[in-house]
Amino acid sequence: MSQDWDVIIIGAGTAGLPAAIFAAERSDRILVLDAAPEIGGTLHLSSGQMSGAGTRLQKEKGYEDSPAQHIEDIMRISKNTADREIAGLAVDNAAETLDWIESINFRPLPEHPVKGQAHEPYSVNRYVWGESKGKAILAVLRPLFEKLVKSGKVTLKLNTRASELVQNSNGAITGVIAQSRSGSTETHMAGAVLIAAGGYVANGAMYKELSGGHPAYGDHSYPYCIGDGLKLGLDAGGTAWGHKNYLTSFGCVMQSYDVPSKVRWRQIHWPERRMPWEIYVNAHGKRFIREDEPSVDVREHTIQDQPGLRHWIVFDSETLREAPALFADVSASDIQSAAEKGEPMFYVAGSIAALAEKAGLPATTLEETVNSYNIGQASEKDSFGREIMPRPITDGPFYAIRSQAMSVSSTVGLKVNTNLEVVRGDGSPVIGLYAAGESLGQGAMMGSSFCGGMLVTPALTFGKMLGQRLLPIGDPGLSRSDN
Ligand SMILES: Cc1cc2nc3c(=O)[nH]c(=O)nc-3n(C[C@H](O)[C@H](O)[C@H](O)COP(=O)(O)OP(=O)(O)OC[C@H]3O[C@@H](n4cnc5c(N)ncnc54)[C@H](O)[C@@H]3O)c2cc1C
Repeated sequence: MSQDWDVIIIGAGTAGLPAAIFAAERSDRILVLDAAPEIGGTLHLSSGQMSGAGTRLQKEKGYEDSPAQHIEDIMRISKNTADREIAGLAVDNAAETLDWIESINFRPLPEHPVKGQAHEPYSVNRYVWGESKGKAILAVLRPLFEKLVKSGKVTLKLNTRASELVQNSNGAITGVIAQSRSGSTETHMAGAVLIAAGGYVANGAMYKELSGGHPAYGDHSYPYCIGDGLKLGLDAGGTAWGHKNYLTSFGCVMQSYDVPSKVRWRQIHWPERRMPWEIYVNAHGKRFIREDEPSVDVREHTIQDQPGLRHWIVFDSETLREAPALFADVSASDIQSAAEKGEPMFYVAGSIAALAEKAGLPATTLEETVNSYNIGQASEKDSFGREIMPRPITDGPFYAIRSQAMSVSSTVGLKVNTNLEVVRGDGSPVIGLYAAGESLGQGAMMGSSFCGGMLVTPALTFGKMLGQRLLPIGDPGLSRSDN
């Protein structure tokens, strides 16, 4: 089967939905393909945190901000590893995206915008999300998109996986070959093709290969994001970037020892939210960081050097009884019970040596580590410079909890220029081929760091911009705003 379209959008997710919504303002020959049986992509799972500078909401609440300040924050947080041009293009246009999302009934939480949560904070309150997180964004995009599908302006093919791009003898992209779940092969010709197929976190082998050999520990990604966008772009002559930027969050407690596994509980390791009473040790039984290290970014980078990207939280019974909750909504007796029952990741024993044995840590080293911490705690001179040391680790039984660092996003992606055209190694564009969203890799937006909202917002923004500007071959190109 062959049919002609103005634009084909591969992926009806965070980037693909706004692209279709805006493209339909100028054409009724828009085809959207999605491998999944429903629209929405990662918005079904995402925390949906977005950041934009100079938004209407910021102005209403009296926060002065500008895209220039936003990009400076990103370059500061990422230590100049983000791509200034592409991240700059995203932040220059982010406020317009957030204003649009709010104009179609997205409601940020009442106390928003905030400076940040979970990641290194911004210098200004510019960060928002809705009550139902990513689903709150999908809830406002869905009716607009479905109306366009119903009216025939957008044609949606679910359960249809783009498997190949059609390229003419000049190397320009002229269409997409797709496989439907029923087994049929379809060829669709188009003036322009947008890859909005997300990342590769659900593709274990690809993730490991592109993440310095680290497996995808967390089972929290959209199952259809298996790296097709990156593969399609590379096969068409595109090039990849971001390989050096792999980064994970600091740690959380997994449900099982399987890889991947769901997260069971997320430890509160932000000293501004909860000062640590425990120590953290690596697989060698040694401390590797001052546990009250104030910078999220430093914590995230330090864990990268620890074997298996994991650590053990070690503490005594008095800490279990007296310290503020280590996990939100989890009581001390829940932790005690998990450890006593021998549930995965939780260990308890009458001595440090026995604890080490249960947790799979070297006993002598762990004893030395605990002794050394206790001496430092008594003399108020910690060898890592830790300042908050409420008590020593002396009151048995003793506990350890294994915490795993992990990432839910793809570091590597397709290199694009400021027209969002996929480019070759020599910088020349693959004519007719555009990309947006996580298919660009997180490294482009944030380098080797996590900057709040800098995946969802750029995905929506680039999708929207391409929808507004994507034209068949001869596109005059996107340009950065004058902000
Ligand atoms: C748990 C979690 C929390 C997150 N929290 C945040 C956050 O708070 N802030 C933030 O900025 N980022 C966050 N992220 C990342 C962010 O949500 C994603 O990077 C972003 O939503 C990806 O958008 P996308 O359009 O690139 O991909 P998606 O929204 O995943 O859309 C891709 C679509 O392409 C389809 N597809 C894939 N392959 C094909 C193919 N071959 N043919 C046709 N269709 C295909 C998929 O089915 C999917 O519908 C989070 C991610 C996760 C998993």
